[in-house]
Amino acid sequence: MSIASISALRGLLLTLLLVLTGCQPAPPAQTRIQGKTMGTYYVVTLSDSYPGGESALKSDVERLLARMNKEISTYDPDSLISRFNQGPDHTPFVIPPAMAIIVQQGIDAGKLTDGKLDVTVGPLVNLWGFGPDKRPVKRPDDAAIAAARQKVGIDKLTLTPQGDHFLLEKAIPALYLDLSTLGEGAAADEIAALLKHKGINNYLVEVAGAVRSKGNNSKGSPWRVAIVEPSDQPGAFSDIVIPNGMALSTAGSYRNYYELDGQRYSHIIDPATGQPITHKLVSASIITPTALEADALDTALMVMGPAQAMAFATRHQLAAYLIIKTDQGFKAEFTPQFAPYLAKKKS
Ligand code: FAD
Repeated sequence: MSIASISALRGLLLTLLLVLTGCQPAPPAQTRIQGKTMGTYYVVTLSDSYPGGESALKSDVERLLARMNKEISTYDPDSLISRFNQGPDHTPFVIPPAMAIIVQQGIDAGKLTDGKLDVTVGPLVNLWGFGPDKRPVKRPDDAAIAAARQKVGIDKLTLTPQGDHFLLEKAIPALYLDLSTLGEGAAADEIAALLKHKGINNYLVEVAGAVRSKGNNSKGSPWRVAIVEPSDQPGAFSDIVIPNGMALSTAGSYRNYYELDGQRYSHIIDPATGQPITHKLVSASIITPTALEADALDTALMVMGPAQAMAFATRHQLAAYLIIKTDQGFKAEFTPQFAPYLAKKKS
């Protein structure tokens, strides 16, 4: 058979296949892995093929997450952050660049938000039972809150570059660094960097509330992410966001809380009062180029409350979306910078 007839036969076979599959070329395969990390979950979805396939993707992502846990988990008594927290004051402690980026983001966001985000808030987080320590059986008293507040303050933490590494130093022995609020955003960014390094251009990375995306899904459409409605209705969502290559992070007070003597306590602590927030802002979502920055700012907005958060987002021209509890249910408010990312609602 001549080359021309072989290629004609191939063309016929392809035509037949297209007829059999409804005249549609098969969409590119989608790869999806998921797992547990940082006390929560991660999901990575690709519409490109990963070198080495799904198992290579899973092992690369989980190796990266295990390394991050060994650096910044306060739940692991042997991690770098735990050793720093347990260590003495005025003694430079060497940390790797990846961890320094997270600490620096914490320091910068703390300054920008006038201390609403404070990565030294750990003693208060632990006192209220939202860290590795057990939940309290009764509300911490004022003396315990005042004592914990004495140990908090970003001014008591110094980060200095030194060669390939960074030096972290605390001014008081009881300073307790808590990067929990930044871990998910940092992880989403690091997974996105891994995918870029592997030549992947179409992905959606979710580490709990922190999202990074690039390119399109396997149907060739831009990735869409739901902002969940804080109602008891499973699957209810408030809006759909098309991040278009930007990062999205959401913080909320409606999932991680407990009730004591009829009072609800959320895991977001206002460093100015030493107590969990009590206002009506139930969720804050931010879109920025990196998930780490978005993850820092969404928590800060949650500390501020609805009016102050909207004023801050407006002043700093942030793409911010707030869900506020009302007597009737919930209402959403967003800045003009957020509007272009909202998918049009079907009428
Ligand atoms: P976010 O709003 O992103 O952050 C809220 C958290 O930030 C609080 O829980 C508190 O820790 C801290 N915080 C509160 N107020 C402030 C403030 N004003 N400024 C700064 N920070 C504040 N959880 C587990 O239950 N088990 C684990 O094994 C576990 N391992 C982890 C390992 C790593 C590496 C990290 C980073 C976190 C881990 N966590 C673990 C914590 C968990 O992932 C979440 O961080 C936590 O549940 C809250 O995340 P969130 O996105 O719901 O809230």
